[in-house]
Amino acid sequence: MRSIRRGDSGPAVAEIRSILVGLELLETAGDVFDDAMDTAVRAFQQSRGLGVDGLVGDETWGALDASRWRLGARTLFHSVPDALVGEDVRTLQERLLEMGYDSGRADSIYGQRTARAVAQFQREVGLTPDGSCGPQTMKALRRLGRKVVGGRPQWLREAEAFRQAGTNLVGKTIVIDPGHGGGDDSGVVVPDGPLRWSEADLVYDLASRLEGRLAAAGMRVHLTRGPKPAAPMSGADRAALANSLGADLLISLHLDGHDNEAADGVATYHFGTGSGLSSTVGERLANLVQREIVVRTGMRDCHIHAKTWELLRLTRMPAVRVDLGYLTSPLDRDRLVNPLFREQIVEAILAAVQRMYYPVEADVPTGSIDVRQLRMVLAQRA
Ligand SMILES: [Zn+2]
Repeated sequence: MRSIRRGDSGPAVAEIRSILVGLELLETAGDVFDDAMDTAVRAFQQSRGLGVDGLVGDETWGALDASRWRLGARTLFHSVPDALVGEDVRTLQERLLEMGYDSGRADSIYGQRTARAVAQFQREVGLTPDGSCGPQTMKALRRLGRKVVGGRPQWLREAEAFRQAGTNLVGKTIVIDPGHGGGDDSGVVVPDGPLRWSEADLVYDLASRLEGRLAAAGMRVHLTRGPKPAAPMSGADRAALANSLGADLLISLHLDGHDNEAADGVATYHFGTGSGLSSTVGERLANLVQREIVVRTGMRDCHIHAKTWELLRLTRMPAVRVDLGYLTSPLDRDRLVNPLFREQIVEAILAAVQRMYYPVEADVPTGSIDVRQLRMVLAQRA
């Protein structure tokens, strides 16, 4: 078709205007392609990754047409070879992702991965897992969406499971994930005279020290890898391993690196999207880990952050990743290569884990938990 452009008028313009109004890109309907509509079309093109020329040709029209679909207006399914495309698919993908299902990128295309995520959701709510999103699946999505403002049933389930598991850490399963390792993935590497410090080796050392301390406190501890695994492991591999072990918590250990050696400090990550929704138990664990480390070691506080990384998104238990300083910072590095300092970090993480299971009413100031005393208290409660 001929591109519709500024200066045109008529029913086709009216239809496009009404779509743009529906998308809240334009304030008023009408049948004239004016300057305001030109701006709206360009904004739409930009948001969809199309060429920004203000012209409504085949491609832009296709995207506008797809954007009209509201979730629930039609049944969605994995159609081959012509996949269903639309705003409703994008809304569904975002909702699935927020609930913790792996629907892939929210690209508005109902592909195999989206269908698989829908089937998984259906299985979990007791529907026939056919991977298509019809009235019954929509009803289940709405019902769960209402229970939690903003929708995050998985995290409600996570919090509930955590609560039901009880406040005693004895017998709990924790997975410690030393980052990198395997193949030639050493993470951040910094030469130091004849030596060579690598993130993979240092976090493995930290993980094995932590393993011993947590086991002594009565937890079942698993590491995701040995000191020199044969092949690299993806975040998804590590998440799958933690899921198959039925872990209660997962802590992933990394070091950071930066071209600028002035960059230093510790940061902790938990699952969450930019929309302010997050794994509440994961966020709590992230807060505890971050606070204990900062208070006990004096490393710079780079705060906690929400991320949708595979490891955090695909794990079914509260999971955090902590970046324990910058190997590229002379300040952090000097401390990290000292085994006594690494013991301090281990002590801080141990206290954070203890605190997760410590009764809130008996909470004590950060940095002041005496781990031996705490074990006695917990033993009496058991
Ligand atoms: Zn790393």
